[in-house]
Amino acid sequence: MQDQISNILRQKQHSCFPVAQGVMGMEIVFVNLYYVENPDKSWVLIDAGLYGSADRIRKAAEDKFGKGNPPKAILLTHGHFDHVGALQTLADIWQVPVYAHPLELPYLTGLSSYPPPDSSVGGGGMAYLSFMYPKKPITFRGRLETLPADGSVPFMPEWKWLETPGHSPGHVSFFREHDQVLIVGDAFVTRKPESALAVLTQKQEVCGPPAYFTPDWEAARASVQKLADLKPAIAASGHGLPMHGPDLRQGLNDLARLFDQLAIPSKGRYVPEPAVTNTSGVVQLPPNVSNTVPKVLATAGLVALAGLATYALTKKRKSRTNSRIRRTWPGYGGNAMHRSSYGSVSQDHASFSTDPENATNNYP
Ligand SMILES: [Zn+2]
Ligand SMILES: [Zn+2]
Repeated sequence: MQDQISNILRQKQHSCFPVAQGVMGMEIVFVNLYYVENPDKSWVLIDAGLYGSADRIRKAAEDKFGKGNPPKAILLTHGHFDHVGALQTLADIWQVPVYAHPLELPYLTGLSSYPPPDSSVGGGGMAYLSFMYPKKPITFRGRLETLPADGSVPFMPEWKWLETPGHSPGHVSFFREHDQVLIVGDAFVTRKPESALAVLTQKQEVCGPPAYFTPDWEAARASVQKLADLKPAIAASGHGLPMHGPDLRQGLNDLARLFDQLAIPSKGRYVPEPAVTNTSGVVQLPPNVSNTVPKVLATAGLVALAGLATYALTKKRKSRTNSRIRRTWPGYGGNAMHRSSYGSVSQDHASFSTDPENATNNYP
């Protein structure tokens, strides 16, 4: 009993929260990452929080798993800045491989920026402040590997990974079948994603992916349907606290059934047509939609929250090259013309990361 209490106290101290047997979450300002322990006591980290949070993530891991017991790997649901902020530091400290879907690699290797966010959709302070978030892709140096094509998850024998694109091109979710635990990333979230107020109040509800940076709504809809079909008992998302039981079941079914009304904005850059991407990154974008919301909104009270996040995120990242990537995925040809190797930046796509209108690694 005493052990349990001290465990809970330790979790609280690090903004950690229990999810399921062997699964613990940690919230960094407004985004979650997950520690997953195997029956043999080995463990992995899923996602890597905000820039500047490596110490917190590592300390919580040491409290839970002991010093000198690094994870076997870091796995990514996707590469948006709030999920990879501490990635380089942690991979350097722990000397572990990082796994992601092949369609996510361009945004982890500096090859391409993500499609730019559509801050005209979604409403709420978090969306309007999107222009403040980092604009360049990371260039990860280290062992970056692709998830196995057979759906198995490296170092997580009880789990499978699923393609859940839409919010990002190579977005994945992780599912443990025997107790139906789902680590969903941002394919759907359990807190209204565009609302700064919801960040503060932790109001739970099943919502579509953050609208301001979902560049393919057809794919996003299909991903939510796929996840609803799994009938998860527990869902832990990138934003918001875990949900379970009837609230989750009902909320997820409703979201899948009424996705167009509940999740897709009535208008916006990516509503009529998606951004086109391939293994080299962004290939084609729909025309920009002007955002009439004045940027002076940044002076509102919301800025306290966004400013906190932004401070942690916009510290200048050093430009790094020479990612060493071992490609293990046979199924993705992509547009090989644009890439001589995963570790190099083509001229075509380098342009995406220099124009602030078209280039951003934005977004929750
Ligand atoms: Zn996110
Ligand atoms: Zn995201």
